[in-house]
This record gives sequence, structure tokens and C-alpha cells, in this order.
Amino acid sequence: MKRIVTVLGARPQFIKASVVSHALRMSDQLKETLVHTGQHFDNNMSEVFFEELGIPKPDHWLNIHGGGHGEMTGRMLAKVEEVLLTEGPDLVMVYGDTNSTLAGALAAVKLNIPVAHVEAGLRSFNMNMPEEINRILTDRISSWLFAPTAASNAHLLREGLANSHIEEVGDVMYDVALHYGRKVNASGQVLEKLNLNPRSYVLATVHRAENTNQLHRLLAIVDGLEMVAQSIPVVWALHPRTRTVLQKMGRLSELSRKVCVIDPVGYLDMVQLEKYAAVIATDSGGVQKEAFFYQVPCVTLRDETEWIELLTSGWNRLVPPVSSYSIHDAILSALGAKGEKIQPYGDGNAAQKIVRALSR
Ligand code: UDP
Repeated sequence: MKRIVTVLGARPQFIKASVVSHALRMSDQLKETLVHTGQHFDNNMSEVFFEELGIPKPDHWLNIHGGGHGEMTGRMLAKVEEVLLTEGPDLVMVYGDTNSTLAGALAAVKLNIPVAHVEAGLRSFNMNMPEEINRILTDRISSWLFAPTAASNAHLLREGLANSHIEEVGDVMYDVALHYGRKVNASGQVLEKLNLNPRSYVLATVHRAENTNQLHRLLAIVDGLEMVAQSIPVVWALHPRTRTVLQKMGRLSELSRKVCVIDPVGYLDMVQLEKYAAVIATDSGGVQKEAFFYQVPCVTLRDETEWIELLTSGWNRLVPPVSSYSIHDAILSALGAKGEKIQPYGDGNAAQKIVRALSR
């Protein structure tokens, strides 16, 4: 029996890990131990995903959050190292591009424990993003690179990483969306609570540092969404970081009068909000893809995206958030838009492929 320690800590990682963790529990050759760094800790940013997606309770809870990027990553590095010394795993598995990802991978390689990186090879080519730094460094020190798409596979090869370390398995988020997307319909849940009809509202999420830390960008988004709300209801599931900034700016109460501002929701409510939205406006990586999974047009409030196949196929359009008017116009003109028929994210069996590869 080979032993795997999975290090996770942020919302999208719980969602990605849920399906791999489930496949690992089915394996009689691999055993998983879960380490939660504590990066996201509110009930609606963490616990709800463990409950809804059937993830076992973490074996280790490190309770590390807040502080600067360096401080947070450094504290995680030290604590994960302690856990790895106690657990002595054969492999460490990490997901995506957060500080928890980098800390987990770095702690492991420094102890000569091989690392598997799920969602390897994504690139924005923008080194100002903390996520880009985390993912490039993690890829460089990983022995198993599980690439979600052909484009991410090509980035890894172009950077000189060995073909023998790369497996293009598809996107684990697609596995999860296929499973839960089928279960969620338009009745009950959050749609009923918010009194929303299918296809009659715009769903928004915003949390990237490049938007929350630059007030002119955040204001363009706030003004743009308020303008959109004059034509069609806007539901904004407000990330805790974005809420704090808007509160400090004194802009939250006016926004709440014009836009339906809600706290972050659990995964099943999010699937319902996404599946029945008319348009999704977001700076989230995961939400861009989920818009496509549910065939909803998406407006991405960023300068670039890692998921380029959604741009070229017409499902997504990039709108750098510098003008409220361009945000307003892009959202309204995306209403009813469709893209080409594509299937870039695998066949819904990414998690099985990862577990099969690791068992080999
Ligand atoms: N999500 C959620 N509730 C919310 C907002 C997002 O369950 O209120 C889910 C969403 O469906 C997706 C994931 O969180 O699966 C995306 O995470 P996030 O936007 O935090 O990170 P990113 O994907 O940008 O790394």
C-alpha cells in the first residue's frame, strides 16, 4: 500500500480534490491522508464543501491563514514539513495554484518526497499574479504533472519539462460538474430563496488580487454591474476579501441596494446559480469553466485567461475591468450568445486516470 499526503487549503482545491479523493478511497493500492492548511476557513468557504462533496474530515488541520504571501507560505512550509516527517508518505499531492499548493510541494521536495501536481501547465503569462508564480514553481518541482488540457500540456513541454512526467488526463472540475450538474435542477435551493427565474439574471463573482487590490478596477466592476442591474437582475456572490475591500471603501451599502449581494454559497447552490444564469461575469478560473460546462455565456473580468480554448470557441470573452461601460456592454451583448461545440476538458474521467497513473 502506497501512502499519499494531499495538501489543500482553498475553496477550488476542495472541489478538485473531492473527486480524486473519492477515487483514491476506491483503490486498494493507495491510501490518502488529508492536510488542510487553513488558508480558507469560514464555514461557507471550507466546511460546506467537505459536507456536500463527501470529502473525509482532514487528518491534519494547520490553521494558517492571513498575513502576507511570504509569511503565509513560510508558515505553511514549516508546518507541512512537520506533518510529512510524521506521516512519511510515498507521494505528496497538490492542486492548482495557491500558497497551499506551493508550500505543500516545496515541503515535499525538500524531503525528497515526489510531488504530483493536479492542474499542471496552466499559464497566464502574467508574473504579477501570485497564482502564476505558485503554479510555475510547483510544476518545476513536481514528478507527476497532470495537465487538464492540450494547451497546458504544450506549455509544460515548451518549458522543457520531461514528456515522461506529463499526463494529459482532462480536468477534474469537469468530472465534478458532470456528476453534480445532473443532480441540480431549477427548483428549490437558492433560486427559490432569492426569487429568481432561470435565465433571468446575471451571476457575478470577483476575488482576484489584481481586481480587489486595484481600486480603479474594482470600482469599474461595481459601477458596471450596477449599470447592468438596471436591465437584468445581478446576483453577486461576494468573496470575503472583496467584501472587506468594498466595506472599507464605503461602497457596499449602495451596491447592495442595486445588486443582489449574497455571501459565498456552497457548491450545490453555486451549480444551480451557474446552470440557470443568463450570463456569468467572473474573474474566477473555475467559474469560467463551469459557465462552459453548463453552456452559459461568460464575461471574464481580467486582462488574460489560462483557459484560452473558451475564448477561441466563443464561449467566453475577456473584458479588462478598466471601464464600467465596456463591462456593461459586454455583459448585455453576451445575453443569448453561444460558442462552438468543443470538448477540451477530457471525458469526465480525469480523477480515475490520475489514480490509475499513480497506481502504476
Ligand atoms: N464557488 C462556490 N461558491 C461560491 C463561489 C464559487 O462553490 O460562492 C465554487 C465554484 O463553483 C468553483 C470554485 O468555487 O467550483 C471556484 O473557486 P474560486 O473562484 O474561489 O477560485 P479559482 O477557480 O479562481 O481558483
